[in-house]
Formats: sequence, C-alpha cells, structure tokens
Amino acid sequence: MPTIVAKKAGTCTAAGCGGRILKGEYVEYSAATGTRHLECASAEQGRRPNLKAGTCRCGAAVAPREGSLLLKETSRAGRFQKQWLVRCARCG
Ligand SMILES: [Zn+2]
Ligand SMILES: [Zn+2]
Repeated sequence: MPTIVAKKAGTCTAAGCGGRILKGEYVEYSAATGTRHLECASAEQGRRPNLKAGTCRCGAAVAPREGSLLLKETSRAGRFQKQWLVRCARCG
C-alpha cells in the first residue's frame, strides 16, 4: 500500500484500532481498505519471512526464509522512508 499524507481527518480502518487520523499525518492508503495508521498497516501484515539473504543486527548471516523482516520507518528532511531489515530467528 502506498504511503500518503492524509488530506483530511478520518478514522483508521484497521481492525482493533479505529483511532483518529489527523490531517497531514502519514497514512497507508489503498482503495480496498481506506486509510490506516502506518503502525496499524504494518502490524497487520504480521511476521514476514525474508525472501533474500541478509545480515541481522547481531551479525548473523540469515539465509532466505530463515529469518523475518522488520519494517523500519524513518523520516528524514521531511521525506518518509521505509526500510525492511532482516532479523535472524533468535533476534526475530
Ligand atoms: Zn490505527
Ligand atoms: Zn540476530
């Protein structure tokens, strides 16, 4: 789902949230689901297997599908970025 800036206030459509979305807030939007908080959108995807090999923060090499992906969101200079980090089974 693309990340957009909410043009108007609304309500998060994620199950179990229903919280307010403020105008100007970064949200995930799709025509099927409407607008959701970023944390709600990513939480709902649950644990994702890593499809590519990577390196965990502990230094362990993680083979494809042997670890999980962790979504890291950063905003820098007004731009919002998403980065998927690989975690090994122990750090998960
Ligand atoms: Zn929400
Ligand atoms: Zn690790």
